[in-house]
Amino acid sequence: MRVVSSLKDLNLERENLPKPIGLVPTMGFLHEGHLSLVRESVKQCASTVVSIFINPTQFGPKEDLAKYPRDLKRDLSLLENAGADVVWCPEEAIMYPPGFQTWINVEEVTNKLEGAMRPGHFRGVATIVGKLFNAVLPQKAYFGQKDAQQVVVIRRMVKDLNFQVEIIVCPIVRETDGLALSSRNIYLSTEERKAALVLSKALKTAGAAYNNGDHDAENLRRIMLKVFNTEPLAKVQYISCADPDTLDELIHVDSCALLSVAVYIGSTRLIDNLSLPCSDDRVEKAA
Ligand code: AMP
Repeated sequence: MRVVSSLKDLNLERENLPKPIGLVPTMGFLHEGHLSLVRESVKQCASTVVSIFINPTQFGPKEDLAKYPRDLKRDLSLLENAGADVVWCPEEAIMYPPGFQTWINVEEVTNKLEGAMRPGHFRGVATIVGKLFNAVLPQKAYFGQKDAQQVVVIRRMVKDLNFQVEIIVCPIVRETDGLALSSRNIYLSTEERKAALVLSKALKTAGAAYNNGDHDAENLRRIMLKVFNTEPLAKVQYISCADPDTLDELIHVDSCALLSVAVYIGSTRLIDNLSLPCSDDRVEKAA
């Protein structure tokens, strides 16, 4: 496994990599969720490039950029074991050269949910992912369903800007008790870690109601709220039952839907989601 930081070194490595190339974009502090994407790429592609870059432009002014967890040494050893070929850790000045002023702005699908709560977040995400695609020129790129809206935004961007890359989405990896893995889980105290189970519990409860025939979107949102109300440490930011493509809130789930939640547990903001599959398929297990 080679580790590069300059664009020149990336290009040299890239030329020699057998194709197809799979790209896994990350912000580091890797866990099994990230590694599941790397393993999928290793399985499907001749070469796997992983990028590690904490992208400042997707953080709001009051968010956790400064304290975002980092551990490059550990990340590199995990990636070596997972079978990555090249790790690209660009300097900030490569991704945002002095005078930077060119952005990718995906419109409607970024106005809701995470986009509404975190203004500018998806402009930062789309721009950095576009730049990673341009630099690595992968045939496939791997993203986690954990960030469901991110997947919608990236798919839209790829279509609209004719990026020649196939987007592969991998399922959410969870702890055995149901908590979705996230680099931010490290912020949770022991008590908060227990309280954080309320996210997967709320989604699972609504998923079960859906499976039992309740397809009224407001009912499903209410069921989730009721679960959150049992947890004093949880402060709900949004509870959504939306169309999985447009992310518009639904009145009734006729076909598929995306249940998603954003919740503060203490001062840590967590997100989670559950796809309600179309028609007869069963709901994926939330925990
Ligand atoms: P991040 O480092 O947070 O930017 O995440 C990098 C990639 O890993 C994104 O595509 C995430 O959706 C994905 N990811 C993060 N957590 C999980 C998880 N628990 N399961 C699956 N994928 C994940």
